[in-house]
Amino acid sequence: MDPIAAAIANQDDEATRHASVPRGLRTVVVVGAGGNIGSHVVPHLARMPEIERLVLIDPDRYEEKNLRSQDIHTRDVGQSKVRVQARRARAIRRDLHVVTHACAVESIPLGGLRCDVIVACLDSRSARQSVNQMAWRLGIPWIDAGVTGGSELLARVNTYSPAFEAPCLECAWSNDDYRLLEVKHACETERKVASTNAPAALGGLAASLAALECARLLTGDISGSLAGRQILLDARHHTHFVTSFRRNPRCRFDHHVWPIAPSPHSAKQLRLRDVSTMCEFTGEDLAISLEGERFAMRARCPCGWAASPDDPRVVGLVRRFAESPLTCPQCGKPVVFGGWDLCERIHLKHLSNVAARRTLASLGFVPRDVFSVTAGGCRRWFEL
Ligand SMILES: [Zn+2]
Ligand SMILES: [Zn+2]
Repeated sequence: MDPIAAAIANQDDEATRHASVPRGLRTVVVVGAGGNIGSHVVPHLARMPEIERLVLIDPDRYEEKNLRSQDIHTRDVGQSKVRVQARRARAIRRDLHVVTHACAVESIPLGGLRCDVIVACLDSRSARQSVNQMAWRLGIPWIDAGVTGGSELLARVNTYSPAFEAPCLECAWSNDDYRLLEVKHACETERKVASTNAPAALGGLAASLAALECARLLTGDISGSLAGRQILLDARHHTHFVTSFRRNPRCRFDHHVWPIAPSPHSAKQLRLRDVSTMCEFTGEDLAISLEGERFAMRARCPCGWAASPDDPRVVGLVRRFAESPLTCPQCGKPVVFGGWDLCERIHLKHLSNVAARRTLASLGFVPRDVFSVTAGGCRRWFEL
């Protein structure tokens, strides 16, 4: 089985597993579940009777150096962080449903983050930006916990609740924040640079604050919660500060909460040509997109090989090629997609009959992806 088909099959297993979980379980998603804050927060959450299901997300494995700053044991070194934390959570409560994702939050389909509260324990600015956007799209409150070690000893918790005029993470960002994001994206060392090496006790402090705030949100105590506010505990000077934030009218994020409908067909059933019937759009300009992803529409190799949009090896989401890069069938070299081969959306009118018969799964869509359809100035969202 090729890697894409295997990935899709795995996702199907995951979807089946989700389906077997009784509906309506009170769920908390922890992003960065194994780190300086995350490793302390998971046991707190596992002990909360309000939570019935935990979704743990973290791509990393434990290293020797983590023993100093994270709540782990020597036997955990070398193991996947989410596996270790899932085992601990289950050891605390046998009836707790625990789902793990050993990958970055950006690789999880939007619907996979559906829950009651998201708790983010991340040191990466771009990952926090992704969580902010995903939480807003789904209309889910999220908690952002952070620490600053070194000469300062600061533990911080912010709560964001998608609502009319409510502030988001990016509302407080300056141009410098965005510049930093771009620079660090470019050198891909952000996670190392941002690593604070904070003491375990400081991570534990931020984790306790985040867990208390999570309990508050789960019991519906929004007015008493930190929604739109930040609490900053200065452990060196024994003081704390509570700051309120406002919606920034110049915020770069659009703050749209999407009204997402369940797709009546799975990714394996739904063909491109049937999307217009499904969403009852008749416009000539019907287009399909997936936020944060681009489509490869054709491929060319310097040796002269070229593939058309009818070629199933090529057309599809670029993420299909991340794990199994496309190699040129003529010269065997990896094919690099130029900017002119990529687009943000697929316009149905540009597709041949052959291409229009392709299923969404064959384009790289997976269960729980939320795609949007636009036509005649209207837009609708569907979750696979
Ligand atoms: Zn904002
Ligand atoms: Zn070639």
